This record gives sequence, C-alpha cells and structure tokens, in this order.
Amino acid sequence: MNLTIIGTGYVGLVTGACFAERGNRVTCVDNDPAKLDVLRAGGVPIYEPGLDHMVARNVDSGLLQFTDDVAAAVDGAQVVMIAVGTPPGEDGSADLTAVLAVARAIGAALTGYAVIVTKSTVPVGTADQVREAVQGALTRDVPFDVVSNPEFLKEGAAVEDFMRPDRVVVGTDSERARDVMSELYEPFSHVREKLIFMGIRESEMTKYAANAMLATKISFMNEIANLCERLGADVEAVRRGIGSDSRIGYSFIYPGIGYGGSCFPKDVKALVRTAKSVDFDAHVLNAVEARNELQKQRLVERIVEHFGDDLSGKTFGVWGLSFKPGTDDMREAPALVIIQGLTALGATVYAYDPVAMGEAKRDLQPLMDAGSVTLAEHQYAAAKGVDALILATEWNIFRQPDFDALKRLMAAPVIFDGRNQYNPERLRRRGFHYVGIGR
Ligand code: NAD
Repeated sequence: MNLTIIGTGYVGLVTGACFAERGNRVTCVDNDPAKLDVLRAGGVPIYEPGLDHMVARNVDSGLLQFTDDVAAAVDGAQVVMIAVGTPPGEDGSADLTAVLAVARAIGAALTGYAVIVTKSTVPVGTADQVREAVQGALTRDVPFDVVSNPEFLKEGAAVEDFMRPDRVVVGTDSERARDVMSELYEPFSHVREKLIFMGIRESEMTKYAANAMLATKISFMNEIANLCERLGADVEAVRRGIGSDSRIGYSFIYPGIGYGGSCFPKDVKALVRTAKSVDFDAHVLNAVEARNELQKQRLVERIVEHFGDDLSGKTFGVWGLSFKPGTDDMREAPALVIIQGLTALGATVYAYDPVAMGEAKRDLQPLMDAGSVTLAEHQYAAAKGVDALILATEWNIFRQPDFDALKRLMAAPVIFDGRNQYNPERLRRRGFHYVGIGR
C-alpha cells in the first residue's frame, strides 16, 4: 500500500519503518529540517533499539523516504497518518495546533479517496475536528474517512511493540475505512486476532484510559511506598506479595521517583482537562498527578534528611538521566527534577547516562554553564569524589556495578536508590549507607 505519515518523531518514524518493513511504500513527512537532514543522510535522530537498521534497510530498498512536502506525499496515498505531537497547552489540555494544521494541509492536497488516521494521542471528539479541517481545505470533491488508530508502543521497545503489539485499536464508523485498515495490518500475521474495531470516540478514549490506568498503578504504588517508609515496612516485599495476585500482576507496580516521559504526565493532565470540560471532577486522576509531582521530590527530601538543607560544597553523582531505560527521551524526566532540586540547594552534580546525555544537555545547559552540573565520561567518573550516588534510571549497566570500586572512588559510601535496584542488606554489609524508596 501507499502510506504517508506526517510527523517523524518517536511514533511516526517507528510506524513508518515498520510498515515499510512489511512491504508498503511509505513517505514520512516532517517540518523539522534538521531531523530531515539526519534521516536523509542515513541516520536516525532518536535512540530506539533496532530502529537504525530497519530505517537503513528500507531506505536502501526504496520503500521508505523522507520529505517536507505534504502535498507531494499525500498525492496518491491510500492511508495518511497524523503522528505529530500533542503537547500540553497552558491549561493542561492537549494542544491540537499541529494536528489540525496537518489536517488542513492534507485536505488541501487530497486528490482521491484516502483514509486519514490520527495516530497522535488526541482527546475524545478530535476526529470530528480533523474531519472538519480536512473538509474545509479540500480543493476538489473527494471522499475521505477519518479513523482513530492510537499508538501504544513503549519507547525503548518501540519496534518490538509495533511489530508484536498487544492489540491494535481502530476507531471507525466506515466500512470502507475498516477494510483499508484491516488490509494495512494484515501482514502483521499475529495482529489479525488482535485488531479491535470500535467507535471513534471509544478508540480516542481507550488511549487515554490505558495511559491513565498505568499512571494510576505507579502513583498508587508510590503512595504505598511512602506509607511503608513511615510504618517501617519494606515496600519491595509488599510488591512481591501483591504482584503474585493474578488480578493485580507485577507490571507497573514498581515504586520509584515518579513517572515521566512524553506521555503519562501530559495524557493524565489532558484527561483531567477533558473531564473539566464536561463538568466532571476526576478525583482519582487528580490524585494520581498530585502524588507523582510529590514523588519526583521524594529523593531530594531523603537527601536533605541525610545532609541537611544546605548542600553547598556537597557533590552528587547521578546515574541515569532519561525518564526510563532504553530511550534518550528526556521529556519530564524525574532525574531533571532531582538535579534541579539538588543544585538549587547549592550542590554540584556529576551525571552520566549511556544514551541520553546529548538530549539532556538541552535541559541542563544553564546549570552546566553555571558549573553546577558536569556530564561525566562514564559511569564511574560520575561517582568520583562524590558525597553520595543517586540511581535515577535503572539502565542495565547500573544494575550490578563494582561496589568495591565505587566505595574507593566515592568520598563517602552513600547510595540513594531511586529505583530500588540494589539489595539494602548486601550494601550495608559492604559498608554503604543505603536509602531506597519505601524501604
Ligand atoms: P515527537 O515530538 O517525537 O514527534 C513529533 C514530530 O512531528 C516531530 O518530528 C515534529 O517535527 C513533527 N511535526 C510537528 N508539527 C508538524 C507539522 N505541522 N508538519 C510536519 N511535521 C510536524 O512526538 P512523539 O513522541 O512521536 O508523539 C507523537 C504523538 O504520538 C503524540 O500525540 C504522543 O502523545 C503520541 N504517542 C507517543 C508515544 C511515545 O512513546 N512517544 C507513544 C504513543 C503515542
């Protein structure tokens, strides 16, 4: 099939590469010239395991190409996907500026029937706005359908998730569009049974409900962790105890320093706004967000309990910057909140991340210029001479470090484990002062 994807970020590029991998002719459109330069030169502007080879392979075979020309890319496409960002607006609602601008550009370029798909995460009712925007921009009388096909991939495992999804949700009220979408997803053989068709509003809501549920599990567990801390219980034992209940399960009940990333924070906020717009108080969602904001500060509070609230002259090593392992995405990363919290109290920070330091520079540059933050060459350089080490992102390389070497390197053997990766007893036996979350 001929496919056009507008917005070549984490979602658009993975989607484009994976559909090309299945033999479709895919044109990816973006309006960021720097991103297009990298892609056209055979590079991949984001870190996503397996993506670079897949992009290169499909560019070489001519199935995948990149452009900034919406009109040329839309002409002749059977499916046009909108995968641009929907960042939070000032009031927390999803900002649809890019989605609707793209919808108008598609309308102006349509020359024949096409299925226009919103892959971006958009509030319930957006498909109606997209349809109006396309309709209003048409230059000739061509039929089209608007379909909702939200994306559920996880950064860090995006290619694998796209190729083997738990489900593919398609919201449509058109038989013709349903046929096209079935054909599009058919080559993903294992997807066949996993294609779930539903109404458009239900599909739009499914994406928000899924992310809100996952964020709720995290905030719930962080709340239990905070209680455990005050009650002298170890939340890790509690986690294993409840996860073994098949109704609860083990996933997304890991206590930590709060959720980040480009999706959970903005999608919970947007759903709260959607609720407000229909005069509904989303009590649970408000609490999920409030707990998360507090949780991002929790490790700084524990550090202050240990060192006092004047951290001038103190240095800290931070392992991990991205909001989770497997990605270079720094959007809403809890590590940033911790670094900002520590430096605001006078501390100096040495930070290391195996892939996100380039991205992190954008946020940390002012602190780097002020001399409060230095990006270290490797993980042990970030621990050299520090008063404490903070684990902020549980990358594999941080899971089993050489603790004896660490102890020799650090000015004091103190570890704040924001991801409960280490065994407290074993560390204490090795002479470390250990602080985790909820234990
Ligand atoms: P992103 O910021 O990585 O990518 C968006 C891309 O769109 C950028 O490359 C940008 O240059 C481009 N763009 C913006 N306006 C444009 C325009 N007018 N014309 C052409 N290109 C334009 O965003 P993302 O993380 O890929 O997310 C995209 C959407 O998918 C969002 O709605 C997000 O909520 C949703 N989503 C993201 C993930 C994820 O893990 N990142 C997962 C599921 C759903």
